[in-house]
Amino acid sequence: MADSIEMQLAIDNDHVWHPYSAMHSELPVYHVDSASGVYLQLSDGRRLIDGMSSWWCTIHGYNHPRLNQAARDQLDRMAHVMFGGLTHEPAIRLAKTLVDLTPAGLESVFIADSGSVAVEVALKMAIQYWHARGQPDKQRFATLRNGYHGDTLGAMSVCDPVTGMHSLFNSVLPQQFYVPAPDCRFDENCSDDDMSALAQLLEQNHRQIAALILEPIVQGAGGMRFYSPAYLARARALCDRYQVLLIADEIATGFGRSGKLFACEHAGISPDILCLGKSLTGGYMSLAATLATRQVSNGIDSGDPGVFMHGPTFMANPLACAVANASIELLLGYDWQQRVAEIEGQLQALLAPCRKLEAVKEVRCLGAIGVVEMHQAVDMKSLVPAFVDAGIWVRPFGKLVYLMPAYVISDSELEQLCQRLLAVLEKYCAHS
Ligand code: PMP
Repeated sequence: MADSIEMQLAIDNDHVWHPYSAMHSELPVYHVDSASGVYLQLSDGRRLIDGMSSWWCTIHGYNHPRLNQAARDQLDRMAHVMFGGLTHEPAIRLAKTLVDLTPAGLESVFIADSGSVAVEVALKMAIQYWHARGQPDKQRFATLRNGYHGDTLGAMSVCDPVTGMHSLFNSVLPQQFYVPAPDCRFDENCSDDDMSALAQLLEQNHRQIAALILEPIVQGAGGMRFYSPAYLARARALCDRYQVLLIADEIATGFGRSGKLFACEHAGISPDILCLGKSLTGGYMSLAATLATRQVSNGIDSGDPGVFMHGPTFMANPLACAVANASIELLLGYDWQQRVAEIEGQLQALLAPCRKLEAVKEVRCLGAIGVVEMHQAVDMKSLVPAFVDAGIWVRPFGKLVYLMPAYVISDSELEQLCQRLLAVLEKYCAHS
């Protein structure tokens, strides 16, 4: 028989690490019994409207019958086979779908097991490409401050050096080139001044730089910032001018979150390498993909050792690929763009009253992302339990309280989510 919930929570507290947490944390964790649609059913009986989509992933909500069925069907065939020397229909179909859907020119697909690994793969592709082209000094990367690309060492090296605590890992982290985060906002143009730091960096250091890596349009975990498509277009042009590859990390933005299927579409550009993850499986399983142009993959093939040097055990896991195929089919099977636009409109209207709170610095929304930025970092110890008491699941970080609901959230559920968030923030601000 399973341990009681209290016993399980005690074991959790004793032995289980949670993301970015102390082993013995004072912050509560909530025991989830099940999840369905946009609701998390806690084991203590409370039911929460989920505002987080489990960190950008569950775009179709939890426990979706079509995704469940896809997993079951694939389970009956095979959960996994190695990908070295073998292949299978779910991976082949997924690769072809991704080639067809993503910006033009991305034709060679590496299916990896998590977002951070997809970023590692992208960085290694860029280095191998330049090595093959006879430019082995191009081993470093340019990246934007406020960026976030994952937690493994290579990915970490291209995250914001301050929020990524680079000082702690100084001797093992590769040293990269950092440019200020774009200042020009989503609805603004972008001037020569806005581009000058990046232009100068590339001009001076391009012989050492394999690629510029960035999150197109939406900087997520590094600050929830939305920047100008013109910046992205001009960054693409600078990369071409200085022979630097462009890696677009769409792990968070991919599959409609910013209002376009891929955020690069806001600027009409194609990167040389593209990383996808998170909502690729509708949030069911860990799966990611790194796509490259033929120029990059042919370059790697033609160099020494003539193969791409990466191959994880669970590469292209059939179960995850089958669910990813079902998730993409589901997304393309309805007018998701209209729905995301409606969610954006609703978030704009429903979060607007937060602006009247003194502790709130700014409210901004793009696609199915709503951000309330506070002047000060919030007190997680009081705010998260207050959200749970109000029946919503919202997990802020730093100064940012944000929502990124599943696209299937109904108008009334979204209204309740935002109204409850506002009520909790009003109380929180009155007492702090
Ligand atoms: N890149 C971006 C833009 C991300 O938001 C994340 C995850 N928050 C990652 C990479 C890393 O993905 P994972 O957590 O699956 O390793």
